[in-house]
Amino acid sequence: MSVATETKLIAPHGGELVDRTGERPDDLESLETLTLTSRERSDLDMLASGALSPLTGFLNRDDYESVLENMRLANGLPWALPVCLAVDEAPTEGRVALDESAVLDVEEVYEYDKEREAQQAFGTIDDAHPGVARLYEQKPLYLAGRVTVFERSEPAFPELALDPADTRAEFSRRGWKRVVGFQTRNPIHRAHEYLTKVALETVDGLLIHPLVGDTKSDDVPAKTRVECYRVLLDGYYPADRVVLSAFPAAMRYAGPREAIWHAICRKNYGCSHFIVGRDHAGVGDYYGTYDAQLIFDEFEPHELDIEPMFFEHSFWCKRCGSMASAKTCPHGSDDHVFLSGTKVRELLANGELPPVEFSRPEVAEVLIEAYRA
Ligand SMILES: [Zn+2]
Repeated sequence: MSVATETKLIAPHGGELVDRTGERPDDLESLETLTLTSRERSDLDMLASGALSPLTGFLNRDDYESVLENMRLANGLPWALPVCLAVDEAPTEGRVALDESAVLDVEEVYEYDKEREAQQAFGTIDDAHPGVARLYEQKPLYLAGRVTVFERSEPAFPELALDPADTRAEFSRRGWKRVVGFQTRNPIHRAHEYLTKVALETVDGLLIHPLVGDTKSDDVPAKTRVECYRVLLDGYYPADRVVLSAFPAAMRYAGPREAIWHAICRKNYGCSHFIVGRDHAGVGDYYGTYDAQLIFDEFEPHELDIEPMFFEHSFWCKRCGSMASAKTCPHGSDDHVFLSGTKVRELLANGELPPVEFSRPEVAEVLIEAYRA
């Protein structure tokens, strides 16, 4: 990849793409080994690949405090969510092994207040919130320090495992400069297909970037979703305008703050634009419908650099004869094809296809198969 083509893409957050991969150290056998949770492993892998640039390790206290209070790292750079490693006690040595796949050079061990973090990051201290529940189960201290990963996690979908350097190289190879990223943890039905295509009309390319880390148990499993994305892309998207790749993060369900965090990560993958729908990364009714869009106003445009593209719910309108939203259609709900999530699940579980105006039959077939299994 030549420097000339690389400079066409948006710069990584903080200016440089971090690479925290490295050699297996000789003293590994002598090190204390910490076992990471699944979420911490996702974070570690994203630290290794530069998806969390400019972070080089788990947050120290100054950065952590600043992120909670100001949505910025201590140096002022926007950063919306803690990326922390929880431990029971301070290590005795200055270096520890993580899952026998990485080492961490201990910078600091500090106490943290779980309820305060819950309130600041999730906007609630309710332990019925899945992100808050996970936070409350964590060990009591945070261990900060730079990581060096010598054995990357086995990707869930090897053929979709593209690091930020890989997506950037692919975008450059295709001659793309303006790329819109689409985060999803659901199968893509007509409504979201429409958003991605409206966005794509204004840029060079589309990165469909489904999250494949931990999700709630009632979300559709990543394996089924990936199959849905494949049949949808095969049938309905031009291959030369779309890249499908897996986003290895775990869901936090932090709503607005996670929307910012998702956008910053996608900037590292080379996206200049990012789709933010209603209730992005939300769960239950913890967040207002537009909170994940409004939160972008708390930053000056140049601070994030990546440009959010805000969308309304969309639907098929029989009278418009097209996909539309409340912004573009003057007709009433009687003319709109709308199905609740419950109704869709009911149809699929009974082996029935939802209307083609709601879901592509190829996608629905995959979901029906998954229900049968
Ligand atoms: Zn209409």
